[in-house]
Amino acid sequence: MPVLTDIEIKLDAREVVLALHQGKKAPEAMIEETWDAIGQSQALIHPRALYRWVKVLGVNGEQVLLAPGNGGGDAVLRLGPHADLMAKAELALVSIVTIGGKLDHHINELNKSGKLLEAYLLDSVGVVALAEVGKAIRKYVEMEAESRGWGVSASLAPGSLQGWPIEGQFALCGLLPLDDIGVHLNESGVLVPFKSVSSLIGMGGEYQSKKVGSVCRFCMRAETCWRRRE
Ligand code: SF4
Repeated sequence: MPVLTDIEIKLDAREVVLALHQGKKAPEAMIEETWDAIGQSQALIHPRALYRWVKVLGVNGEQVLLAPGNGGGDAVLRLGPHADLMAKAELALVSIVTIGGKLDHHINELNKSGKLLEAYLLDSVGVVALAEVGKAIRKYVEMEAESRGWGVSASLAPGSLQGWPIEGQFALCGLLPLDDIGVHLNESGVLVPFKSVSSLIGMGGEYQSKKVGSVCRFCMRAETCWRRRE
């Protein structure tokens, strides 16, 4: 199954600090420290994206029906009341992106030795780095859709889309050989290493959008998210 490893991650301290401060301006000293954290993170971040295309058979109420192929039977994803966001999809990309576990391991060590600010900054760098890996996958879908003259859906994920609980990762991630990128699901349906995320993105001739967006209005984190756009 394809694994994307050639992923360029450009990190900017101001962007990391902006995320840390929920969009508010931060002191210059913190920006300098964040550049140091970015420097440290280079040897600890291993971006990878595992993905596969699956045929979308249709939407039935709150369920999306997929035909993964390879001799397996059809698969069902229970997306909940917003399953209709996939109604125009002819194909869907199922993906897991990760930056690996080395950064989190180092952060734990820093926390144990009382270097809390350093740990905090590195953690924030990791969150932004993971978002950059997600961007690479979205870009890939957009290019694929463009080559067919199709449009794309928003990026949907269990634990984020209202009505699709985190346990939905068992069915979604079950479509991918997680071992190929050193990731697994724990008993609660959370991806380990923690800086890993799954997503489902549809594409088809009836979608109007050329850009893979987010559905903030249906997001479980909308109340607390400073990046919310709608
Ligand atoms: S509310 Fe925030 S976390 Fe949710 S989809 Fe929008 S940007 Fe993403």
